[in-house]
Amino acid sequence: MTQTTDSTTVRPCFSASYAEARTKFIAAAQAAGAQLEHHELDGQAGAQGETLAMDVALLGPAAAAASLLVLSSGVHGAEGFCGSGCQIALLHDETLLALAKERGVAVMLIHAVNPYGFSHLRRTNEDNIDLNRNFIDFAQPTRNPAYAGLHDLMLPAQWPPTEDNAQAIAAYIAAHGEGAFREAVTTGQSEFPDGLFYSGTAPSWSNRTLRALLRRHGAQRSHIAWIDVHTGLGRYGHGEKIHAGLPGTDDNLRAARAVWGTDVVAAWEGDSASRQVVGHAVSAVFTECPQALSVGIALEYGTRNRVALEALRADHWLHRYPGAASAGQREAIKRELLDAFYVDEDEWRGMIAGQCRTALLQAVLGLGR
Ligand SMILES: [Zn+2]
Repeated sequence: MTQTTDSTTVRPCFSASYAEARTKFIAAAQAAGAQLEHHELDGQAGAQGETLAMDVALLGPAAAAASLLVLSSGVHGAEGFCGSGCQIALLHDETLLALAKERGVAVMLIHAVNPYGFSHLRRTNEDNIDLNRNFIDFAQPTRNPAYAGLHDLMLPAQWPPTEDNAQAIAAYIAAHGEGAFREAVTTGQSEFPDGLFYSGTAPSWSNRTLRALLRRHGAQRSHIAWIDVHTGLGRYGHGEKIHAGLPGTDDNLRAARAVWGTDVVAAWEGDSASRQVVGHAVSAVFTECPQALSVGIALEYGTRNRVALEALRADHWLHRYPGAASAGQREAIKRELLDAFYVDEDEWRGMIAGQCRTALLQAVLGLGR
């Protein structure tokens, strides 16, 4: 395979389990001549009993290269099926890798930032933490009192929710508005460890591991471009380029648009499928590599399920009330969660790989000029 993103040739890049994805990633990285690092998550096993790890492949010019392109997958666990496929497609893409090398751009692929969630089909990590709410300043915890009023409504003891529950949530939305409801639920909260969009109360293993990686491989760079692959929001097969800078950083948004185009959206401008996220993983690059001009996007692909929130509620219910679900119900909830984050169709995979390749090419050209 070379540069093609034809739908049937990209199929083998994608996997049906974390274990399969990890094996394929390591094999493809070795075949591409990458330098590999394996950062194992101690004390946890995968769904098939396998080792869980954040695997890193480094390619291209030596550590001295001024520019670094980062492609990461699985910050949100089960969303890793998509990002892993994109990474493996890049490892097979001799043309694009040769161009990066020629233009003096080193490439770092970070596979399964949240291997626990990837393997166990959760968006969150081993501690129910949403990693894209975990990169905050814990000395100044942000409180989200609105979530406290919704926690039990979002994760009721009974699933599927009763009619009373649905009416109570509808009443909340009628009183406060859909926007305020979404903000209360998804902004992040640190008070309910079994709740939705839990930020945690300290940096997670993934956070610490990622920061160490950035210090080790990013400290000497002058320019860094980072594409972090996500799924579950927006239109089917469309990759929305969501600015992954710090809120309100107009200069940085302009720099990101210079690389990826004016269709990079910023949540604070209000035209994104996502709400403004505080504490996202890519933000670590600004603190760990302050010498570099860094730009980043979350490449957020839509699936068949336009709103993953209901699938997330069900999965968090399983986690909050262990033993409450029958084996069949558990399986159905996990199936629904996977469907919210991945589409097992060649057409979708082809669109995913093609758009990711375009974003990678834009980054290589933008960094290497
Ligand atoms: Zn995500």
